[in-house]
Amino acid sequence: MLGRFFRYTEENVKIQSHLTEPQGIIKTQITELQLKDPFKIARRATDAARQVVSVEIDGGIGETAPARFYGETVETVSVALETIAPTLSGDLDAIHDVMEVVETTLGGNYAAKSAIDMALHDRLGKKLGVPLYQLWGLNPHRTPCTSFTIGLDEPEVMAEKTRRAEMYPILKVKLGTPRDIEIIQKLRDVTDKPIYVDANTAWTPKEAVRKIRQLAQYGVVLIEQPTKSDDLAGLKFVREHSELPIIADESVKRASDIPALVGCVDGINIKLVKCGGLLEAHRMIHVARAHGLSVMLGCMIESSLGITAAAHLTPLVDYADLDGHLLITNDPYIGVTLDEGKLILPKRPGIGVT
Ligand code: MG
Repeated sequence: MLGRFFRYTEENVKIQSHLTEPQGIIKTQITELQLKDPFKIARRATDAARQVVSVEIDGGIGETAPARFYGETVETVSVALETIAPTLSGDLDAIHDVMEVVETTLGGNYAAKSAIDMALHDRLGKKLGVPLYQLWGLNPHRTPCTSFTIGLDEPEVMAEKTRRAEMYPILKVKLGTPRDIEIIQKLRDVTDKPIYVDANTAWTPKEAVRKIRQLAQYGVVLIEQPTKSDDLAGLKFVREHSELPIIADESVKRASDIPALVGCVDGINIKLVKCGGLLEAHRMIHVARAHGLSVMLGCMIESSLGITAAAHLTPLVDYADLDGHLLITNDPYIGVTLDEGKLILPKRPGIGVT
C-alpha cells in the first residue's frame, strides 16, 4: 500500500529499472498521436506529437493524455497502472467503490486514475447496453458546440489557421505574447465568430486587465486563465476589473479546489486528465453549480476515445472545448461527431467508439 498521498513522479519512476506490463486485469498500450500542425501555447515549447496511454479492463476501454505541467508522463502513468492493477478486484460494476480503492492506493496520479475510471464506465455501459449519457440520465440533444483551438504562432499564420477552421462556429485562441492585440486584430480581419481567449497563465494581473479591456472590443466572449495558477488574488483582481467572464483552468484541478475560487472567477474548466476521471468530473460540475459558477469541459490532445468519453458529460455544461481529436492525423477511433460544431454523441453502448 503506497497510501493516498503517494504519487509517482518523473523522478521516482526513474528508480524502476524498466517498465513492465501491468499485471492482471489492466491491459495498456502507449500510442503516439501525430499533430496536424505543430502546437504551441504560452507556457510550453512547440509539439509535433503527443503520447497517450490507453487501457482495457474487462472489455471496457479508456485513455489518458498525461501532462507534464501536472507532473505526469506516460512513464508515471504506466508505473501507476502497474501498481493499481493487482488492487482491481471484486465488483467492477460498483465504480465508486473501485475508485475509492484506487484513490487509497495511489491518490496522486490523476491521469492514471482517469484512464481506469473511463474504462470502468465504458465497461458498465457496454454490460448494460446503454451509452454513457443514458447511464447518467442525460439528454443527448443538450450538447453545446465545441470550440476549435488556434495555437500560438505568427499573427499571419494564426489568421490562416482561422481561415481554414471555417467549419467550426466558435474559436479558442491561445494568447500570452507581446503581440496579443495584434493577433486578435488579424483574426478579426478574417472572422466574426465568437472567440474564447486562453492566456495559459501568461499575463500579470495588471497586464490582463489592460488586455482584456482591448479584447472585449474585438468581440471576445470569455478569458481563460489570464494569470498564474496559484495567484488567486491576482485572478480576483482581474475579475473585479474586467467585463468579460474569467474561467479558471490551471487553477482548478479537483472539486476540492473550487470553494477557494469563488469570487475569483466566473467559471471553471474541467478536464478528465486533470481531475482523475468521469466520477470526479461529475462531482466538480455539481460543486461548481452549487457555487454559481459556469462550467467548461476541456481536453488535452487526445484521440476520439478520451474526447468522446468527456463529450457524454457535456449536456451538463455551458461550454465545450473538445477538439483534441480534431488536431491529430492518426486518430485510432471514431466516436463523437460534429454537426456545424455541435457535439453529436454516439448511441452505441458505453463510450460508443469503434
Ligand atoms: Mg486552458
